[in-house]
Amino acid sequence: MHLSVAPRCNIRCNYCNRLHDCPNEGRPGVTSRVLDPDGAMRYLAMAVAAGPVSVAGIAGPGDPLANPGNTFTTLRMVRERYPRMLRCLSTNGLAAPALMEEIVELATHVTITVNAVDERVGAGLYAWVNAGGTVRRAQSGAALLRDSQMEAIRLLKEAGVTVKVNCVVVPGVNDTHVSDVARAVAGLGADLFNAMPLAPVKGTLFEDYPEPGRAEMREIRQEAARHLPQMTHCARCRADAAGLIGAAAAEGRAATRGRRFTRLTCAS
Ligand code: SF4
Repeated sequence: MHLSVAPRCNIRCNYCNRLHDCPNEGRPGVTSRVLDPDGAMRYLAMAVAAGPVSVAGIAGPGDPLANPGNTFTTLRMVRERYPRMLRCLSTNGLAAPALMEEIVELATHVTITVNAVDERVGAGLYAWVNAGGTVRRAQSGAALLRDSQMEAIRLLKEAGVTVKVNCVVVPGVNDTHVSDVARAVAGLGADLFNAMPLAPVKGTLFEDYPEPGRAEMREIRQEAARHLPQMTHCARCRADAAGLIGAAAAEGRAATRGRRFTRLTCAS
């Protein structure tokens, strides 16, 4: 399950809009409520009481590492109360090198979203990147983000952490570049690759872009699979998702004290 304790973000992806709270909408960046660490533990306890929980993850609604206080406090609390539970976080990676000590101490699995390894491609995907208060745009921002992501993967693998790489496929922007991303992160030792189709969202630069079709995604994944094993069951979960991927009974139906149990995290 996802614990939505991280509202802020340090970059702006051109496909992201975190302003909505539509309970029927299931996609990353969406949550019914931002929780503080105590609230997250109450939410987790509620889920544990309802059935076994194997993974607790932090995947937003912003970037976990742009909210390091809440994120690390929550992961620490999960470790103390549920020592056998896997703990993961899903990040854009910008702040990861600087926070590596805490990440390695507290997370068992890390997902980094790498949409481009060429800054010319990345410039079309990100509006800005905020590194410690300095905002960078276009290729300069994309290059800084890419360098942080590559360094983060290298350090995580050096420390023995399992690393999955997500790559959002945006037709006409990075769809012919996904294999390059897979090759680059495979070279750093990443464990798993998840090419995921763009979910066009209203109010974003990409709102009118087409969602890549199944055949296109199959081809892209096959190409990327030459470099890394592919994850194919990603359900693009909300930042407060809980349950089992694909389990209809759990999908947004079982409201417990006003909170919805949707689908299980795929951020591992
Ligand atoms: Fe949105 Fe995540 Fe991109 Fe931040 S890193 S802008 S939360 S999609």
